[in-house]
Amino acid sequence: VVEIGTPDRSVITTCAYCGVGCTFRAEMRGEELVRMVPWKEGKANRGHSCVKGRFAWGYANHKERILNPMIRASIDDPWREVSWEEAIAHTAAEFRRIQNQYGKRSIGGITSSRCTNEETFLVQKLIRAGFGNNNVDTCARVCHSPTGYGLKTAFGTSAGTQDFDSVMAADVVVIIGANPTDGHPVFASRLKRRLRQGAQLIVIDPRRTDIVRSPHVEAVEHLALRPGTNVAVLTAMAHVIVTEGLVNEAFVRERCDWSEFEDWAEFVADPRHSPEATELMTQVPAANLRAAARLYATGGNGAIYYGLGVTEHSQGSTTVLAIANLAMATGNLGRDGVGVNPLRGQNNVQGACDMGSFPHELSGYRHVSDDAARDMFRDLWGVELDHEPGLRIPNMLDAAVDGTFKALYIQGEDILQSDPDTRHVSAGLAAMECVVVHDLFLNETANYAHVFLPGSTFLEKNGTFTNAERRIQLVRKVMQPKNGYEDWEITQLLARALDCDMHYGHASEIMDEIAAVTPTFAGVSFARLDELGSIQWPCNDAAPEGTPVMHIGGFARGRGKFVRTEYVATEERTGPRFPLLLTTGRILSQYNVGAQTRRTENSRWHEEDRLEIHPHDAEQRGVLDGDWVTVVSRAGDTSLRALITDRVAPGVVYTTFHHPSTQANVITTDNSDWATNCPEYKVTAVQVGRSNGP
Ligand code: SF4
Repeated sequence: VVEIGTPDRSVITTCAYCGVGCTFRAEMRGEELVRMVPWKEGKANRGHSCVKGRFAWGYANHKERILNPMIRASIDDPWREVSWEEAIAHTAAEFRRIQNQYGKRSIGGITSSRCTNEETFLVQKLIRAGFGNNNVDTCARVCHSPTGYGLKTAFGTSAGTQDFDSVMAADVVVIIGANPTDGHPVFASRLKRRLRQGAQLIVIDPRRTDIVRSPHVEAVEHLALRPGTNVAVLTAMAHVIVTEGLVNEAFVRERCDWSEFEDWAEFVADPRHSPEATELMTQVPAANLRAAARLYATGGNGAIYYGLGVTEHSQGSTTVLAIANLAMATGNLGRDGVGVNPLRGQNNVQGACDMGSFPHELSGYRHVSDDAARDMFRDLWGVELDHEPGLRIPNMLDAAVDGTFKALYIQGEDILQSDPDTRHVSAGLAAMECVVVHDLFLNETANYAHVFLPGSTFLEKNGTFTNAERRIQLVRKVMQPKNGYEDWEITQLLARALDCDMHYGHASEIMDEIAAVTPTFAGVSFARLDELGSIQWPCNDAAPEGTPVMHIGGFARGRGKFVRTEYVATEERTGPRFPLLLTTGRILSQYNVGAQTRRTENSRWHEEDRLEIHPHDAEQRGVLDGDWVTVVSRAGDTSLRALITDRVAPGVVYTTFHHPSTQANVITTDNSDWATNCPEYKVTAVQVGRSNGP
């Protein structure tokens, strides 16, 4: 615990780590943060927090933080510190030179789910209004983009259906591809409380996560499926529900498209989708799968929570659709205690998506080809917007390698470490003429940067985050930015240098504009957030105080849409050369690539990532606990220390990815979701052998 004195003031703000969105009282002594105290009034956390939000804020003062802008002519040159004026003028000149030489669409930008809604909105505005194209993407691309696609297709809204409190009315909870104990600990506490009260738990996960068996909680069914077979398992559950007459026909007739339902029901009823027919492929015993399907359909209020084990697959979007099908077929939508709930990894994944940071969507999920939406922005911003969808992150990198994409502005994301197929990412970055990294630290991506713009931490800015339950909460500045500017101000400086009209005086003015152009945010303002504490969108005339539970009485799209979910095996096949399947996840004390948590006291609790391997597989390879092993895939290889455990099944290995030395993405492939290009991080065929270390 870092405590440096007695506080003389406090500020309520929101945690910048995970999608739970805990609020804290930041206790200050002058400009020094003394401690973070979980706020009892916080509606997402109700006075609880985890070890990250409470203790892992020391990175704000870390000696490696960069506080002055830097530029260099080439990535082989040393960095040169420059004034903000020179850095911004140089960046704008480079962007203009490149657009004049290679065309308007030769540059783009990446926003981050770590940033506030206001920062994200400004980056996409800079790109659309300043760059004149739609080459904007967000790191949600590599986590929950299939959620956006799947839930919008099925229900009409790219968001989870419930608030966290809703779980207290659930009778059956299904967790798919998520590890809330480590990934969303404060929500996990609430969930466990409900389970201790008697709600029943089904876990669908290749690994025996803590929630499967923790004190006073035990899953009724743990379907330890083979990685990559989510769609087959969920379609088999649908088969049981349809063929055993467990469909909630009244709900489907009233709320969904009946002919699409009939088509789907005929599809899932095919004997090839039965639990028995798919058992060999999924490795889930048919009897357990049948029991899980019956329990979900008949056990009362059924609530589904899912994570990246659903989305980060070549069939991520299909899996989200399969989950939506199950919920509609059983009538588990539109009231307390039910629903389809993505557990968002980062603090503002939901917000980043809401703000229009995808290359095909404006804020509020309106397609860039929507003439009326573009006309509205033209009238407000004074520029005509491009009607062609722009490039996604992987397409930007492909185009860079091909020589047609030349410059990139990256705010708050380390794509070299976090995106798949590291060699391809580095090749793309190396091929560009101007890479601008706007971040706290010289991250791995900055090795390929020509301009570094130092960022501000969440403690040094005003703005809002939107958590996994669509809850918009204020981030309040508790200290002055050590780099001189809040991040939105830096984007604004760059925009003005590019003759893009931006003249905001405070982050609240950006939210006013967001509310004016985004129908689901119509009633949101900093003053209202201050008054109410938080607002769950949609917030408008119909719901002036927000909407905790969505789709009550009707879906946002009208009638719910059933979609056939044909299982297609991943291209990532095991065989004699690569006989094991690697899957990945997180640990409680660390956060993603560790840029922040590794620079705090939390590092002591997790000094390295380990490779979990089943005793049977370890014995076959002569590997002892703690031995160094080499993990080789078709894409590359890396070294880790082994952790022998039966948490993973034979044939499956698992690692976390918090340390750069793990190089997890050197071995992940470039396979991705068919609809959204979300990378298939969760399935990599590998071989493992003893080694002498890196
Ligand atoms: Fe809450 Fe998540 Fe922050 Fe932990 S990391 S304090 S669970 S918001």
